[in-house]
Amino acid sequence: MAGKAEQNVVIVGGGFAGPQIAKQLSKKLDPKRYNLILINSRSYAVSLPATVRLVVDAESRLEETSFVKLDRIYANGNGQTKVGIVTSIEAQPGVPGGAVVLANGERISYAVLILATGSKWSGPSGIPENEDDVLPFVDAWRQKFAKAKHVVIVGGGAVGIELAGEVKDLYPATTVLTNYATQTKKVTIVHGGNELINATYGSSLRKGLEKRLRARGVEFIFNEYIDDIPEPGVVGVTTRSGKHIPDADLVVSARGGRPNTDYVASLGEDALNGHGFVKIKPTMQLLNHPSIFAVGDIIDWAEQKQIAKLKWHAPVILANVVSFLNGVTPTKKYAGAPEMIVITNGRKGGMGYFGFLGGFTLGDWFAWLVKSRHFMVPHFRKDLGY
Ligand SMILES: Cc1cc2nc3c(=O)[nH]c(=O)nc-3n(C[C@H](O)[C@H](O)[C@H](O)COP(=O)(O)OP(=O)(O)OC[C@H]3O[C@@H](n4cnc5c(N)ncnc54)[C@H](O)[C@@H]3O)c2cc1C
Repeated sequence: MAGKAEQNVVIVGGGFAGPQIAKQLSKKLDPKRYNLILINSRSYAVSLPATVRLVVDAESRLEETSFVKLDRIYANGNGQTKVGIVTSIEAQPGVPGGAVVLANGERISYAVLILATGSKWSGPSGIPENEDDVLPFVDAWRQKFAKAKHVVIVGGGAVGIELAGEVKDLYPATTVLTNYATQTKKVTIVHGGNELINATYGSSLRKGLEKRLRARGVEFIFNEYIDDIPEPGVVGVTTRSGKHIPDADLVVSARGGRPNTDYVASLGEDALNGHGFVKIKPTMQLLNHPSIFAVGDIIDWAEQKQIAKLKWHAPVILANVVSFLNGVTPTKKYAGAPEMIVITNGRKGGMGYFGFLGGFTLGDWFAWLVKSRHFMVPHFRKDLGY
């Protein structure tokens, strides 16, 4: 790839982590020495939290605001965004530098490589990589939600809960009038645990969210799994233990994300753990590849995968990349971050949980203020220069 300088600093992934790292590095790197290149599957970043409203509510028009072009992130134009999908990495263990290979066969060399390819999502948060497919995908989901009479959400994690809240916002009553006919729109969450989300969070949050959703008519099936999502048009679904839900006409996956790291396997067996997370040192360098760093959802670190973690990831990556480029051994270490979460219940409510001071929760007003009313899209846009 053409560039003014001799060496490339390459970032793969333009979601939350990649662009923030690119933005900060563009201020620090000398353009005479380094070309800063961000490679992303689309020309824009997607605000994933907003997808639950985007796919349910056409009137939100979130497709106009929650997809943000990656063309204003570089200080003084010191960097470039390239649209492409990285399919493999060419590197020798212990040897600095290498190249990434794109799906179109192009090869881009790097002096430092930063991996920030996030998670793969099934269901409505699985926004397609090809830009031409994105709006048809969004539109198809909106139509599915509008037509369904009984929406069964598979997974009672944050995504499933937030989706249920959006459906209840738009179709508040169990019975709604559509095109002269009375239609029943039920919402059921099927969750593998005996309480919503997971044990990272206190029971006050887990029970509090259940209570709030029950008050809106959402039903729950706990300690159950749905292994196969029925094909479109199929009515009825059966759980793993054989419980049948005969009128389920829209079964939506809200299962957790999986790391988007297939291309990292090209570095050898020891690059990924058994779940596909990238093994890192506390300096966020790969174990056998000192010039490759990983950040965001893909790192093998026992923590909830969140944008919020970036506040702690980014300073480590930035300091260590700059050290490495200056020939100094990276020493800044990631030591984890506090757990906290805000989960919406439609536009007006939700709950927040903070894992410090013994763990405490905040309610609807707080959730509305920080997340539910706009899914933080204005902040996302501002961070990206819009
Ligand atoms: C519905 C929903 C709600 C959420 N709400 C919150 C919240 O309230 N707070 C919070 O902190 N977190 C939230 N999260 C989690 C948050 O979205 C992720 O933690 C965050 O997006 C991770 O950032 P990332 O940069 O690691 O990856 P991503 O944001 O996923 O970005 C990765 C990018 O890399 C691209 N990519 C992937 N593979 C390749 C490749 N091979 N070549 C080129 N490009 C590639 C992808 O297309 C994508 O653009 C939510 C997630 C979902 C789905």
